[in-house]
Amino acid sequence: MPTSIVDIKNVNKSFGPAHVLRGVDLQVAKGEVLVIIGASGSGKSTLIRCVNGLEAFQEGSITVDGCELPCEADRELGEEKRLNAVRRGVGMVFQQFNLFPHKTVLENVTLAPMRVRNKSQADAEATARRLLKRVGMQDHALKYPGQLSGGQQQRVAIARALAMEPHVMLFDEPTSALDPEMVGEVLDVMRELATEGMTMMIVTHEMGFAREVANRVVFIDRGKILEDGTPAEIFDAPKEDRTRTFLSRVL
Ligand code: ADP
Ligand code: MG
Repeated sequence: MPTSIVDIKNVNKSFGPAHVLRGVDLQVAKGEVLVIIGASGSGKSTLIRCVNGLEAFQEGSITVDGCELPCEADRELGEEKRLNAVRRGVGMVFQQFNLFPHKTVLENVTLAPMRVRNKSQADAEATARRLLKRVGMQDHALKYPGQLSGGQQQRVAIARALAMEPHVMLFDEPTSALDPEMVGEVLDVMRELATEGMTMMIVTHEMGFAREVANRVVFIDRGKILEDGTPAEIFDAPKEDRTRTFLSRVL
């Protein structure tokens, strides 16, 4: 049994009266590519936002790389330091690219390593240029996000996340806001990361990509993991009616 890098145990999360995550258990092994599927509103974003501490949960535990995230009560007790420690090791890519609009591509990628990791500008820029090359954006370093296509912005966002040398990368519908002709270039970068052994948790509706790249697929339904298996198991032989219904709508 390989050691898990993300360990989610019995996590419960409510927004006021809405019980959004209902006893989620999920382990992700080092190097594993996990795809999370499920209907809109089922809790996919909330779950991955909990993993990098963007959302607090009320019950259960989440451990990333051996460091336990503080739950909501612990945050109130001032466990922010531990939260920041975990966050530094987790890269996140959102549906809306969230680049800083008034900073160049290069500045977007160097900012956090300089501020949070105290890297020198020269060091941060060298790393940024290497990462921009890796996502095919080396020729755009001095442009502003507004001068780039959505696909290009998303590739910069991936480079920016990688610049913090994360142990895990989280993707929340990274291609949902893109024009169809730009989806492929972003999925290509993600596919390459997966090949290089990056641990990844990906929420996506790109079922072809999931089938090809995922080691494991989980189906989340109304805040619970209903089914967990290989892509072949989930897509070709789903056990649960609700999984079948969901797949019949999206495939
Ligand atoms: P998904 O990503 O699967 O579409 P979400 O995790 O975004 O689902 O949302 C799960 C549920 O939690 C939805 O009912 C949504 O309305 C609710 N929710 C999400 N974020 C908030 C929030 N900040 N405040 C209140 N309710 C929220
Ligand atoms: Mg979502």
